[in-house]
Amino acid sequence: MACPDARDPGHAARLRSAPKAPLRRLWEHASPHWRVLVLGAVLTFLGGVTSLAQPLLAKYVIDALAAGDPILGPVLTLTAVILGGALVGALGAFLLERTGQSVVLGVRRNLVGRLVRLRVAEVDRLKPGDLVARLTADTTLLRTVATSGITNLFTSTVLLLGGIVVMAVLDWLLFLVAAGMIIVVALLMGVVLPRIGAATQAAQAALGEMGSRLERIFGAFRTVKASSSEEAETARLDAAAVESWRRGVAVAGWTAVSGTATWLAVNIAFLSILAVGGGRVAAGELPVSSLIAFLLLLFYLMEPISTLTQSATELQTGLAAVRRVDEVADLDREDTSPGTAPAGSPGNPASVVFDDVVFRYHPDLPTVHHGVSFEASGSGLTALVGPSGAGKTTVFSLVERFYDATSGSVRLDGTDVCEWPLAALRAQIGYVEQDAPVLDGTLRENLLMAAPEATGEELEETVRRARLSDLVSRLPEGLDSAIGHRGVTISGGERQRVAIARALLRRPRLLLMDEATSQLDAANEGALKEVMLDAARHTNVIVVAHRLSTVTSADRIVVMDAGRVRAVGTHEELVATDGLYRDLAAGQLLTAS
Ligand code: ADP
Ligand code: MG
Repeated sequence: MACPDARDPGHAARLRSAPKAPLRRLWEHASPHWRVLVLGAVLTFLGGVTSLAQPLLAKYVIDALAAGDPILGPVLTLTAVILGGALVGALGAFLLERTGQSVVLGVRRNLVGRLVRLRVAEVDRLKPGDLVARLTADTTLLRTVATSGITNLFTSTVLLLGGIVVMAVLDWLLFLVAAGMIIVVALLMGVVLPRIGAATQAAQAALGEMGSRLERIFGAFRTVKASSSEEAETARLDAAAVESWRRGVAVAGWTAVSGTATWLAVNIAFLSILAVGGGRVAAGELPVSSLIAFLLLLFYLMEPISTLTQSATELQTGLAAVRRVDEVADLDREDTSPGTAPAGSPGNPASVVFDDVVFRYHPDLPTVHHGVSFEASGSGLTALVGPSGAGKTTVFSLVERFYDATSGSVRLDGTDVCEWPLAALRAQIGYVEQDAPVLDGTLRENLLMAAPEATGEELEETVRRARLSDLVSRLPEGLDSAIGHRGVTISGGERQRVAIARALLRRPRLLLMDEATSQLDAANEGALKEVMLDAARHTNVIVVAHRLSTVTSADRIVVMDAGRVRAVGTHEELVATDGLYRDLAAGQLLTAS
């Protein structure tokens, strides 16, 4: 069966939902909290109303004083209103802020879930620093926009519409003047808002760029220092920081333009209405009370109009953030939900078949596998050998389904890996990468990450099998010692064995090992070979081999060259028949990658 995504790149894109408008996306993030949002907005509003009532109540107290009436009642009422108003207002503000935080939490959870499930092919071309900025900085921008931004937008629109209706009822001609003003403001916003949105998005992108440049530095910190390139790296970071500043200043400029222009439009409208209305009052066409009411109304509407433009401006920030966050949502992900292995998968060990596999990493890149076929079934040790770049590591990537074959098929237990549920497929396999990564954390965490449910006994047994007992007894806190970012506190050979122990703890039916080329001394090498042969007694072990000692103990050797399988056989057979193998074997160390 084909892996649909690889054969037809459009397929994955079609499976994804059509891109949604960012405003809708923003609302999707906020809508689960709409009840609390409404409650918070109402409480904030009530808090505001009570502050309006305070002057009236103060007057009531003073009147009571002047009249010599008992003032206990009025004072208590005033106190209650002040306290109650303050409490209600504070509660409203708290609820809105809390909801803002909840929106951010929801978006972050969603994003984290997506990030760790991205396909390897996607991550190959992404910059981790930028992804970090999207998860941290961009999501933070959503906090206020998704709550007070939305509620302000809503309440001021309602107030504005109400005011407009009353204006239309009061006087048609004056209404037209006011409507003209509102249209001018709206047109202006139509011009300014997209610019604010674009500038914000560019500012955030520059922030992401800063993150990725920083990540680049820390990813090769010693090399940066050894190359004395601190100056150059600082300049690169600075350029990104300046770009973010430049875009931020542009946002400030456009915000100032929109604020001032709104203020001007309202004032011009005010003067025009005064002129037109005044003339009509003088001509006796309009009662003066209507003109006064109209002007008061206009004053009353200034607040919602400026709130509206302000929150529309803020909204652009949120929309820019939503766009950046959602770009991650549109990347290809893996379905890692638990599934059951295809029926008929027997116990140990698993069989692997490559059947005329053609593969390239990307349609624009050259083909890496030109019809690779081989079979490795049953327990025992299979060694993959060949010059650097032959495609050995790629064989493992296809078995683990980090990538999908372009054509041909990779089968595990006779079933195409594309038909296996991904989680079930990977559950069969233990994989030791060439550079044997160790993650920040304790030794125990590192060992258990592939098999969290392993018992203490299994852990002990595996530590022994992987010849890690010495390391454990040497470390100050044994298994619970922190081994640092990228395992800097342990040696290369130890890292390698930690990675093997991790893979073994998974009780794999297939063990894939990309042999390290240079990190092991003779004693370690011997130990490692024992571990490997020991595992090969019950498991199907495939190892990318760089050492003669590994290949001579292999049950079968697959010789690869430039994306093709040249020959398969035992050491003796291949020395007799294959020139390339003879050369490799004569060089003792087979190759360097
Ligand atoms: P080997 O392990 O035999 O040295 P690999 O399988 O690592 O070879 O690589 C085979 C070819 O594929 C090489 O030419 C390499 O440049 C290319 N390649 C490996 N990994 C990637 C990748 N992630 N993206 C693009 N090309 C890659
Ligand atoms: Mg390799």
